Amino acid sequence: MSIKYINDLDISGKRLFIRVDFNVPLDEMGNITDDTRIRGVLPTIDHALDEGAKVILASHMGRPKGKVDKKLSLEPVARRLGRLLKKDVVMTKDCIGDEVEKIIDDMNSNYVVLLENLRFHIGEEENDENFAKELARLADVYINDAFAISHRSHASVVAVTRFFDVCGAGFLMKKELNYFARAMENPARPLVAIIGGAKVSNKLSALENVIKKVDKIIVGGAMAFTFLKALGYDVGKSLVEDTLIDTAHKILESAKERNVKFYLPVDCVVADKFDSEAETKITTVQEIPKDWMALDIGPATTTLFAQALQDAKTIIWNGPMGVFEMDAFSRGTFAMVSHVANSYALTIVGGGDTDVAVNEAGELSKMSYISTGGGAFIDLLEGRPLPGIEALKNKG
Ligand code: AMP
Repeated sequence: MSIKYINDLDISGKRLFIRVDFNVPLDEMGNITDDTRIRGVLPTIDHALDEGAKVILASHMGRPKGKVDKKLSLEPVARRLGRLLKKDVVMTKDCIGDEVEKIIDDMNSNYVVLLENLRFHIGEEENDENFAKELARLADVYINDAFAISHRSHASVVAVTRFFDVCGAGFLMKKELNYFARAMENPARPLVAIIGGAKVSNKLSALENVIKKVDKIIVGGAMAFTFLKALGYDVGKSLVEDTLIDTAHKILESAKERNVKFYLPVDCVVADKFDSEAETKITTVQEIPKDWMALDIGPATTTLFAQALQDAKTIIWNGPMGVFEMDAFSRGTFAMVSHVANSYALTIVGGGDTDVAVNEAGELSKMSYISTGGGAFIDLLEGRPLPGIEALKNKG
């Protein structure tokens, strides 16, 4: 079962409903602080316009939970999109209804239409059929170019596809899936996965799956301390999910059986409290003081991890090595950014916090690919099918 991409479809003169993810970060004044997600879908929009299609863009923003919230209007996105496309962007007051249909009936391909925040309707997150039907009335062809939301069964991602005969994916989706496949399905080896961050519970299942495919695994961030505790170390007050100690054991066993090299920190930066002003010191993992917590990997670990990356041909990375938001605990993550960026491997960085770290370190351009998806990227790592992708299968 395969999916069709926008360039496989006849879209000339058609009304195209393109689901995008314009859920960009805004500052207190409502200014966009990072427009990567908007730039990411420009190739799809340009292609559609070149082919003479009428482009209708739909996105969510934030979590308004079915209520209109002016602060979560897509208006700032419409302005930025207009500037990037050098084209007029007509923003509708709602995403469904007679007024929207009238605007679309009258439209031509000299401008694009951006629908107001889908999540102003509760039906969006509930995958509601009636809401999906209303959305589908607006167009002839459905395109999903919102990888970052494709792990969610929402109306504009899943239910809506039932009401279109022709559905496909955009170029951003294509890029995301292709890079992921290059890394995980047929990778140049050694393939190394670097997994960090705090969400131990949800990344352990990613680890269980990843272990079947990789040659080496490097574990940093809070997650490492669940493994170190499983190995019998006293990790003080470091973040540990005790209920997952058994799973951690099983993962270590499974790595051993498969001859996957499993790297854990050998030293760390410990703090007397979770605070940027905390007292800190560097200790080996054997000597974490009882009342202290480890908030970053230490310098010996950075050297060890760099050594493990030396011969890598493919690197896939998700999750920071420490609490990089605080200067005192950011060294480990930034050192890893530099090692990954300067490696000779195909480097794929999962979204969320990891790309923030790469961006802050000024190394974005040195990575082969930075995914726009956080949760969707993890679901792929877990080997879970994405509902938004499944819905497109056999819908040419
Ligand atoms: P995740 O969303 O799972 O990728 O987690 C990212 C978060 O993990 C970041 O906000 C980091 O501050 C946090 N983090 C990384 N290492 C640690 C650690 N050793 N202790 C507590 N939090 C951590």
